[in-house]
Amino acid sequence: MTDELVLSRRDGPIARVSLNRPAKHNAMNRGMLEQLDAAVSAADADPEARVIVINGNGPSFSSGHDMKESQQDPAIAELRTTTEGRLAFETETYYRYSLNIRNTRKPTIAQVHGNCFAAGLMLVAMCDLAVASDDSKFGVPVLRFGLASGEMAYEVWEVGARRAKEFLFTGDTIDARRAAEWGFVNRVVARGDLENEVTELALKIAAQPPVALSLLKASINHTLDAMGQSNSFWQHFMTHLLSHSTEEALGGSRHRRDVGEASWTLSDKQPD
Ligand code: ZN
Repeated sequence: MTDELVLSRRDGPIARVSLNRPAKHNAMNRGMLEQLDAAVSAADADPEARVIVINGNGPSFSSGHDMKESQQDPAIAELRTTTEGRLAFETETYYRYSLNIRNTRKPTIAQVHGNCFAAGLMLVAMCDLAVASDDSKFGVPVLRFGLASGEMAYEVWEVGARRAKEFLFTGDTIDARRAAEWGFVNRVVARGDLENEVTELALKIAAQPPVALSLLKASINHTLDAMGQSNSFWQHFMTHLLSHSTEEALGGSRHRRDVGEASWTLSDKQPD
């Protein structure tokens, strides 16, 4: 039997999709990514659902991809021993799944709390709207592993090049207030109000005419694509893949040894 790494339920017109590895701060392993893709597709196809809300069970939204599993699982490790394997694996589970979320017909809202790092932040970026609780923290600390940012450098689109460069060059974490100031999330609310605030926003949107809403979403995304967004995602994804093959990323550099295990997903430091 498959673990329920993602839970789905419909709550009136709202499809709620929840990442469900609470003890691991919702570190995204391969199973979770597959289940998330299936859950979002099902919600998009559900005629009763008007809005899709994505959140995380437990103390955090998501601490990013599960790097520990990818090192320990021989099947995944093998996929990553060659450039061909990594190209196939990341194109499917990181790149294509992310764009599936971006391209749903229905509006999506990320409901964020706690830690939101790396791939967790990429998931938020793929959603149309984002509401964060005041305890949220955002960061992409992957450069220290010799990798050129996350998969798509969506940050440039979300917050502008100056802020994106500082954020990615330093790997520093920002708090919810800063994320809202930068435009990465729509608003910040008290932790205790998060679900109610998101529900209120979702219901307001769900009351709109669904066909026009869907056309409007697609049109805004097409506007971003007219400005080059999808092409830039692909170009950056290829750059990210290239950076996996350097000596720095493969562990050959002194720098990598110095900072190697410093602070990847917080889930590694949490008890199961
Ligand atoms: Zn990668």
